[in-house]
Amino acid sequence: MHFDHHVAVPDPAAGPEVYRQHARTWLRANLPGFMRTDSPDWRPATLAESSAWEAAMYQAGLAGMTWPKPYGGHGLTLREHLAVNKEIGALPMPESVSSIGKELAGPIIMAVGTEAQKQAFLPAILAMRQYWCQGFSEPDAGSDLARLRTRAVREGGHWRINGQKIWTSGAAKAHYCLLLTRTGTVADRHRGLLMFAVPMDTPGIRVAPIKSIDGKESFAEVFFDDVVVPDSARLGAPDEGWSAAIRVLSIERATNRMYRPWRFECELRQLIAACKSDARLAPALEDGGVQRRVGELASEIDGLKGLVELTVERMMRGEAIGARGSLTKLYWSECHQAFAGLALSLLSQVGPQSSPLARRARQACTNAYLFARAETIYAGTTEVQLDVIAQRIMNLPKDLT
Ligand SMILES: Cc1cc2nc3c(=O)[nH]c(=O)nc-3n(C[C@H](O)[C@H](O)[C@H](O)COP(=O)(O)OP(=O)(O)OC[C@H]3O[C@@H](n4cnc5c(N)ncnc54)[C@H](O)[C@@H]3O)c2cc1C
Repeated sequence: MHFDHHVAVPDPAAGPEVYRQHARTWLRANLPGFMRTDSPDWRPATLAESSAWEAAMYQAGLAGMTWPKPYGGHGLTLREHLAVNKEIGALPMPESVSSIGKELAGPIIMAVGTEAQKQAFLPAILAMRQYWCQGFSEPDAGSDLARLRTRAVREGGHWRINGQKIWTSGAAKAHYCLLLTRTGTVADRHRGLLMFAVPMDTPGIRVAPIKSIDGKESFAEVFFDDVVVPDSARLGAPDEGWSAAIRVLSIERATNRMYRPWRFECELRQLIAACKSDARLAPALEDGGVQRRVGELASEIDGLKGLVELTVERMMRGEAIGARGSLTKLYWSECHQAFAGLALSLLSQVGPQSSPLARRARQACTNAYLFARAETIYAGTTEVQLDVIAQRIMNLPKDLT
């Protein structure tokens, strides 16, 4: 793979539209053909290929937009970040293999990390030399994260960690785990939670991959058996774990993968193009019921774009995302699940005789359909988002039934 590294990154003062144009030009010129998810030539990229692609994007000024320059970032604002994300979404590109590092671990390290931690982690994440996983959920602590049991006990200048995490995405490839532990008892709930940056090759860590419905082993159980880390692995103060975790969750719900609505629009157009390309599928597009569902999806996607843009403007004014992250999370996960359902029903007639575009779309949409089942679970389930919206945005009392 060869990428254009001699690229002039726009002047920060040029504004988001110039940045968007730069992103469009560079991405369209450099995205390898086999990575285009709509192409009959598509094949899954290896980790090394994905890393090389994302490192090239970073070199072209398309990652680490808002991160400070001393840590390898471009020192720009969320508006340029959004401008780039719109172009990332508009192209049928593979998902990042390092979004936990770039979008969750990075921001929290920037917020609570020491200077030494920022220097050690942030440039390496952007340059794709370091992958992270997020060790929050446990077998008995998912929606109710405050029930987590993994314990960290201080022993002089070290911490001894024992416990188990589950559903840890990317654990098998991660160099570091953003680990949430507790220093007291489970009865302490939100108090006494502590976050660590734990190297995954520390003795006592065992990763047991879990196979998901799509046949992939992208998440795992992670066991911590007398894992000893120095105090310098601690991220933030001993009682800061809960507020840091809440911050990570609000990023995960509202601003992580900001390109989503533009990608959903791209996928919807791809679906229509695939149906039009095949004589057996095309007549379904004339059906009034199908047209209404396409219309509903297109308007939901537009609403989601507005929500993302509003979030960016609020954050630019210095407002915290807070509970409003649940609105975005609810919207994108339900919208994409509905899209995947429609796609699979429209493509159900695809067979060996179908057009190459239709066959590729069927393959891509089957994967999207299976993964969309998880989209209303991870980053907080739909039921939990509805409770947050009702109770924390609309101020209804807690449901005690
Ligand atoms: C693909 C995928 C990747 C993931 N990656 C990670 C990761 O990298 N790191 C990580 O830490 N975790 C990860 N998770 C875990 C995820 O955060 C949890 O699955 C999620 O928080 C739900 O928790 P749970 O599975 O324990 O379900 P539970 O909390 O046990 O929920 C079970 C059901 O009960 C409902 N429910 C629970 N509480 C309430 C309530 N108060 N009101 C109404 N209904 C309720 C839920 O909506 C759900 O339907 C991932 C999950 C998936 C599916």
